[in-house]
Amino acid sequence: MRRIAVVGGSLAGVHAAEALREHGFDGDVTLISAENELPYDRPPLSKEALLNGMPMERLSLRAPEWYEDNAVTTRLGNAAVRLDTARRTVLLDDGTTVAYDGLVIATGSRARRLSSTENAPPVQILRSIEDSLRLRERLRPGQHLVLIGAGFIGLEIAATARQLGLDVTIVEVGRVPLGRALGDEVGAWFRALHARNGVEIVCTCTVEAIERLGEGAVLTLSNGRVFNADVVVAGIGASPVTEWLDGSGVQTTDGVVCRSDLSTSVPGVAAAGDVARWYNPLFDEEIRVEHWTNAVEQGRRAAHTLLGHGEAFSAVPYFWTDQYDARMRFVGRASAASEVVVKESGDDRLVALYGRDDRIRGAVCVNAPRELVRYRTAIRDQVRWGDVTETPSAIGG
Ligand code: FAD
Repeated sequence: MRRIAVVGGSLAGVHAAEALREHGFDGDVTLISAENELPYDRPPLSKEALLNGMPMERLSLRAPEWYEDNAVTTRLGNAAVRLDTARRTVLLDDGTTVAYDGLVIATGSRARRLSSTENAPPVQILRSIEDSLRLRERLRPGQHLVLIGAGFIGLEIAATARQLGLDVTIVEVGRVPLGRALGDEVGAWFRALHARNGVEIVCTCTVEAIERLGEGAVLTLSNGRVFNADVVVAGIGASPVTEWLDGSGVQTTDGVVCRSDLSTSVPGVAAAGDVARWYNPLFDEEIRVEHWTNAVEQGRRAAHTLLGHGEAFSAVPYFWTDQYDARMRFVGRASAASEVVVKESGDDRLVALYGRDDRIRGAVCVNAPRELVRYRTAIRDQVRWGDVTETPSAIGG
């Protein structure tokens, strides 16, 4: 194998390129990215960078000289538009092609947008550095920010906006924030956290209409309420970027379908990060994870697999979110859990466990680092549910 192309110049892509060199691959490595910037980190975009601004040097995943030192050729501002797996070429949007012997797909996910109508005002999203800069520009003290969707990104933006002195309302279709991801008990804890910090969260409600009003908007909710907003942001989830693979033979179903070692249906092609759906033997299910640590670890594993050292990727998923003084860490899987137990719950601390098939599967720890380590080990070792908790209650019940 002489030429490896990595499509997607972000977290998974950079770690794939780095691991190729660490494993002694001395052929050509080309990193192709639709974005104009060198790969940068996304988590600060809704936190420190949105609050205080952050220079590109601090956001960049690697210094500019790293690419030269590691002989990684970058093709920035070039989206891959088609993959020809028979000829082993990637067609870019400027009409040029990149030939490869091995390929890593690391095109991540994109923020979902609300369907827009003619008189619709701009509804912002937050995925890229440009989005973050644009939003930061618009977050002025005393203004009213409306967030559509109380997922992680929406809640982080809410916390940042409160610190910047805005009034914040969140409209959420579910019964509680984060309900789908973490269940009603933990969602209720986050609702209370935001209420204490002055955020109004309107649950079991949708936005029926948004109309432009000057620079801002008038929103009509499904409960009949009508109010004005200076800034509207949608945080309604993300979708894997796979349309450029249509017709290539690489199997996709809500992401690139991978084997447990992250190889795909096409020889010489592996996938990593937000875009990859793979069979995780630890949980005995196919999953796709949109978290930072997963993208780092999978980028590295996809590189190993291409170089012929494939092994099952069975890491325990890990995610963090910082909102006000709450440092939430999550390990494992919650969405497929059938039981949840709240072990501890106070204003500044929360520990909740998730179980399925008589095993601990996940844990949420807010400001509880020791518990996080303990339960992460328990999940990896597939400890029995009864050994970590004695009083299970049905999730969302
Ligand atoms: P991405 O970061 O999505 O990168 C994919 C790259 O591929 C992008 O640069 C994209 O432009 C490029 N691309 C797409 N299509 C093409 C194409 N056709 N051709 C060429 N290039 C293409 N995770 C946490 O665990 N904790 C957090 O606190 C946290 N906070 C976050 C805050 C924000 C605002 C966001 C947006 C994400 C956050 N995440 C967090 C999630 C984490 O950043 C992602 O899981 C991670 O970025 C995924 O990396 P990736 O390389 O797989 O994909």
